[in-house]
Amino acid sequence: MKLLFNLTCSPVFLSGPEPLLVIRTEQLCKRYGSFVAVDELNLHILPGEIYGFLGPNGAGKTTTLMMIVGITRPTSGRVEVLGQPFDGTSFALRRRMGVVAEDAWQYDEMTAYEYLAFFARLYRVAQPGPAIQSLLERVDLWPRRQVLVGGYSQGMRQKLNLCRALLHDPELLILDEPVSGLDPNGIRQVRELLVEENRRGRTILISSHILSEIEQTAHRVGIIAGGRLLAEDSVAGLAARLGEGQRIEVEFQQPPVTLRPQVEGLPFVLKVEERSPSHWLVTTAGEEDQRTELARFLAGQGVLVIGMRPLKRSLEETFVTLTDAAVRALVEK
Ligand code: ATP
Repeated sequence: MKLLFNLTCSPVFLSGPEPLLVIRTEQLCKRYGSFVAVDELNLHILPGEIYGFLGPNGAGKTTTLMMIVGITRPTSGRVEVLGQPFDGTSFALRRRMGVVAEDAWQYDEMTAYEYLAFFARLYRVAQPGPAIQSLLERVDLWPRRQVLVGGYSQGMRQKLNLCRALLHDPELLILDEPVSGLDPNGIRQVRELLVEENRRGRTILISSHILSEIEQTAHRVGIIAGGRLLAEDSVAGLAARLGEGQRIEVEFQQPPVTLRPQVEGLPFVLKVEERSPSHWLVTTAGEEDQRTELARFLAGQGVLVIGMRPLKRSLEETFVTLTDAAVRALVEK
């Protein structure tokens, strides 16, 4: 556990004054009776970043996000949004954020268009018609705009929620599981939409269990379990900090049976795993790329190498490694 907590890092500011953080939580706590759902959480979300907020079921993600947007009241600690303390009451601040909550309440008796038009009025959107059309078109819902929200599928509701969150052109998006229930096409549409909105300057805090999506889009990732931040870094940074070396995938043509112990004996090799007799995964020590050294050795042995490529540690592997130990420790507590 100690090692995992040591992995936590704060953003590093290279010089000058601290930039304005878009979200800052300070020692944020939520208790339900004696149960601690969120435990002294310090989150720092930087302007313009996509921050993936990950954790196993029950880790405290939704509770944290709901405290940030002012729906759930913290037991203790502070939330700052766009440089100001926020408890959900300031309409001026609310207007600058777009939120997709896990179980957002929708107005089943309105059509999708009426629903968005209602929120456009609430948030005083200057030109609601073009804004609604453009958003619905981007998620393929424009042809279904006259369908009652009550008749929408879960995936369609998710997309409509996202349109509602973007309608008033907020600087900050806070999205709790925005792609749950979406088909692969819908997931891709939402990914493209979020990346595009981020390029336009929107900061995005997003929780999701679909790690491949976070891996493709997030600049930084925070992993929580038991309400505590276990680690925070870029996807590559997290993998590197696990300190398990580099992995090289090698394909040969008929390697001799004596080759494996020889490769295992090389000073820079930690481990050899055989996916098949001619397809190996070689883990090397340290952060250096050892492909040249390995290729030189294999050539010296007269082994014909068909291909060699570095294998990145996926976010899923990193997530499982980090959270497994933490979850076990919590269960044993
Ligand atoms: P998931 O990925 O399953 O959505 P999560 O990380 O979003 O999980 P939370 O919903 O924040 O987790 O819940 C964190 C913990 O707090 C869970 O153990 C949950 O049972 C507990 N919890 C949340 N809301 C309440 C409540 N109103 N009363 C009691 N316990 C609660």
